[in-house]
Amino acid sequence: MRGMNAPQPAAFLQPNESANATADLDKLFAAQHRASRAMVDVPLAWRLERLERLHKLIDTHGPALADAVQADFGVRSRQLTDVADYFVLLATIGQLKAQCARWMKPQRVSTPIYLQPASAYIQRQPLGVVGIIGPWNYPLQLTLGPLATALAAGNRAMIKPSELTPHSSALLAELLHSTFGADEVVVVQGGPDVAHAFASLPFDHLMFTGSTAVGRKVAEAAARNLTPTTLELGGKSPCIVDASCSAADMAGVALKIAHGKLINAGQTCIAPDYVLLPEGREAEFEQAFSRAVGQLFPADGGSKDYASILTARHLARLRDLLQEAQAAGARVVELDTASAAHPRQMAPVLVYNAPAHSRLMTEEIFGPILPVLTYRTLADAVSHINARPRPLALYWFGTDSATRNEVLNQTVSGGVTINDTLLHIAHHNLPFGGVGESGWGSYHGEAGFLRFTQQKPVLVQSRWAMGHLFYPPYGARFQQIMGLLKRWL
Ligand code: NAD
Repeated sequence: MRGMNAPQPAAFLQPNESANATADLDKLFAAQHRASRAMVDVPLAWRLERLERLHKLIDTHGPALADAVQADFGVRSRQLTDVADYFVLLATIGQLKAQCARWMKPQRVSTPIYLQPASAYIQRQPLGVVGIIGPWNYPLQLTLGPLATALAAGNRAMIKPSELTPHSSALLAELLHSTFGADEVVVVQGGPDVAHAFASLPFDHLMFTGSTAVGRKVAEAAARNLTPTTLELGGKSPCIVDASCSAADMAGVALKIAHGKLINAGQTCIAPDYVLLPEGREAEFEQAFSRAVGQLFPADGGSKDYASILTARHLARLRDLLQEAQAAGARVVELDTASAAHPRQMAPVLVYNAPAHSRLMTEEIFGPILPVLTYRTLADAVSHINARPRPLALYWFGTDSATRNEVLNQTVSGGVTINDTLLHIAHHNLPFGGVGESGWGSYHGEAGFLRFTQQKPVLVQSRWAMGHLFYPPYGARFQQIMGLLKRWL
């Protein structure tokens, strides 16, 4: 074990307990580490059985967990948790159960002529202990999704959910601790201090989902142990409306943008952060967007489908962003909608002419504020995107495939959905992740399975091997063979 004497797990490893003290972390980790080294070869049956337990946990306790998320947010409908957390989770678990046997198999590779008649393959093995640090915005999908993938790949896992969702984090801990042994899955609760100590454990892999600022700290802490990381971070995801969108298209385009922006009230990592609109189409877009908002969240007496902002602190930050932009000359259009039912439901807002240096245009917004920027030529829109950190997601709406390809070829982002928003995250055969400041490493589907897997190359020499022909002393025969081989390469 790197840098640790394996202490014996003590009484706190009993089910239904959570580790709040930093000192306990080493012991919890040691128990998982020891178990992972005692069973290096993790059979398919072990993996499937753990996935089944997780599936059952969601089936049985899904409604209680959704209620806990609702209690954390204030307003967060059960249906939103159903579609954004459970649907994605159940699809993930279903795919893992169906594909695990195939993905864990050794993968034969062809052997180059100069090594024949040797053969070679890649052996896929569990890494050992995976750490998972989760954010608050989708507290179930973003902890249990990586957990399912880690288990399918034959690993143990320690989870640190967000301290800002205390109800769902506590219930998750209770349910996972009664479903799994502490040497299989353990939940650690706590704030930044515990999180920092957690990130400093010598995991075999550490997966972090959260902000770019905290991601830097996680990468630093993990680097001290040479722990490889997957960082799923945030950023400003642009949404381009192309000139090829007709006036008739605009209603549908605005509805899709409004849905992507306003689901969970903008508190979604891949929500469109701002819109890039062809110059002159502002009024048309504003009208269509306003209508779309009314359609999604009718204003009569408040909507329980429109999530509230998580805390008063987060709401105050959003208001500050708006005020700063407004004071600097931006035009703010507050839309009439269902924001009356709860003091932290914030009405959607469109913002025009926000200065480029304002916090609204430099920080990830993570709320229901949509800046609208206009562009004259496609090259202007592309250079605006390329002058900024690479985004987690990019959206493009239009009918002109040449322009679409130009945008796809000239920009680099974590992922893309064309003519809609968000949906690439739900396609489990697409790797999901960021690039540059929006993160590194991707998961979902086989990409996720491989993220938590050691791909060990194995070369099997043949008894008919001619390797000795290359051994010293190097004489004329060596020169002759090398000459022949070089001609083949
Ligand atoms: P955050 O970075 O504030 O917190 C995330 C987690 O990190 C929490 O569990 C927190 O306790 C922990 N943490 C805090 N300090 C730490 C430290 N020093 N070391 C280790 N861990 C520490 O993020 P948040 O506010 O919970 O979530 C919002 C952010 O997450 C947004 O930026 C959003 O874009 C991003 N996000 C990204 C994805 C993705 O898949 N790329 C998904 C959801 C959210």
